[in-house]
Amino acid sequence: MQYYRDYRKKKKKKTGKILAILLSLLLVLLIVIVIKTIIYPFAKFETPAVTEQTNTGASDEAVWRLAKAIRIPTISQDADKTTDNPFDSFKVYLSEAYPEVYKAMDTLSINKYGLLFHWKGKDTLRNPILFLAHYDVAPVVRHKCGEDMFGEEVFRPGDPKKEAIGKYQTAWDFPPFSGAVANGRIYGRGTLDAKSMMMAHLEAATTLLANSFQPEQDIWFAYGFDQETGGTKGALKIAEYFKQNNITFDAVYGEGSVVTAPGVAGIDRPVALVGIAEKGSCTISITVKEKGGHSSMPPSKSSLVLAAEIIEKLNSKQFPADIIPLVKTFLDNVGGDMNFISRMAIANQWLLEAPLLKLLKQDPATNALVRTTTAVTMVKGSNAPNILSTTADITVNFCILTGDSVGKVVNHVKEICDGYDVDIRVDTSCEPSSLSSEKTRAWRAVKNAIARLYPEASMVACIALTATDAQRYETTGKNVYRIMPVCLNEYEQRTIHNENEHISLENYGRMIAYYKNLMKLFETIE
Ligand SMILES: [Zn+2]
Repeated sequence: MQYYRDYRKKKKKKTGKILAILLSLLLVLLIVIVIKTIIYPFAKFETPAVTEQTNTGASDEAVWRLAKAIRIPTISQDADKTTDNPFDSFKVYLSEAYPEVYKAMDTLSINKYGLLFHWKGKDTLRNPILFLAHYDVAPVVRHKCGEDMFGEEVFRPGDPKKEAIGKYQTAWDFPPFSGAVANGRIYGRGTLDAKSMMMAHLEAATTLLANSFQPEQDIWFAYGFDQETGGTKGALKIAEYFKQNNITFDAVYGEGSVVTAPGVAGIDRPVALVGIAEKGSCTISITVKEKGGHSSMPPSKSSLVLAAEIIEKLNSKQFPADIIPLVKTFLDNVGGDMNFISRMAIANQWLLEAPLLKLLKQDPATNALVRTTTAVTMVKGSNAPNILSTTADITVNFCILTGDSVGKVVNHVKEICDGYDVDIRVDTSCEPSSLSSEKTRAWRAVKNAIARLYPEASMVACIALTATDAQRYETTGKNVYRIMPVCLNEYEQRTIHNENEHISLENYGRMIAYYKNLMKLFETIE
């Protein structure tokens, strides 16, 4: 018995010792993690030395011109219309809205609706710069049935109240093609993505022309009409035109990210996100085949049920997540302003990469930073309630992270559909872009123009999460930078391609001022 007691005592002592060692090790590890977090070289924000204040107000006329542009429903899919084509109306409208631009610049239509403007500079030996946007818009999905999409004409210049009349009772405060000006905002499809950008370029050029400004180098403006459906008819053809004419650019400026408002992602200052790369994209249609017939005698799995199974697999078998070098640098740049837990995870990736990835995957915005995303967007069965269709169609859209490829996505879909009777078709595709440098005059010009509008913002390079037209222009120059110079909170960001898309008058004014600065400053930046 004594022997047994001694044995237990000894064992207890030994276990206690091991526990103490383990606890001390854990404590050491914790101390290392905390110290590493404290000393981690997160980028420090420095207020830029730009003191000149920029006037950011948009004039009534400028607001009116954008509002009228919104009223022309240039939905990408309607570019093929043979009658009442809104793209024809838009072209006519543009020439009426900006007569000075049309007078001073050479204009060219590429593939009918791709629009090019060429502003000749003083020095023809310098490489030109290029501003991009698109004037097609995404369709409006949810809308009050039977309501008209335009509403009354709700704003006129000089209207002292500038208030649209009445409240529109849907998820839109005002009809999606009303161009209503109310609540300090302009409402409608295209107010953010991306008619506002196009109109802001032309507003800026109009003001500069009125002041007899001529740029040092040539400036080109290029506007696509099918960005929302792949850009193969617009941007791709325009880029080919530049290539054929040996025109290369020192800078290409297009849409991409935005300046995020304070509070977004837990960062209490605005962050100007400039895309130096963008994800690729790939839209795939899957047709699932099965016997059809009357719904009174359904097979155990109809084509639509099989499609549902495939959709479930597409959704559950996501691409693996990874922190690519650009995203790592991005986290180093913004991490310093984040909370301690986030800082700790970023600073200790040697140990905490898995929990960090888990954290990033939880939010759709950060999830998109670390993987090729899968979004099932459309599905179609039969046309009648009592008919079983012989085919069901699934449309799935992938945004491809650097490192993955269109080929990889296609193989992934083939693997998922293995065992099903399907046809797989790639509708549109674009590989991820290459990386632009942060050591160019084109980058520094953006930095300067941003600092004039947002002196309190830190500017960081990032990857744009969707494919834009900019990618098509990589053949015309290496320096491609993507930002829409507006400051948006999370709600405003969510209205893009969604309900209630709008731009604040303040943001529209900033946009015009930004492009004016960029056009004026470019040649003076060292
Ligand atoms: Zn866009």
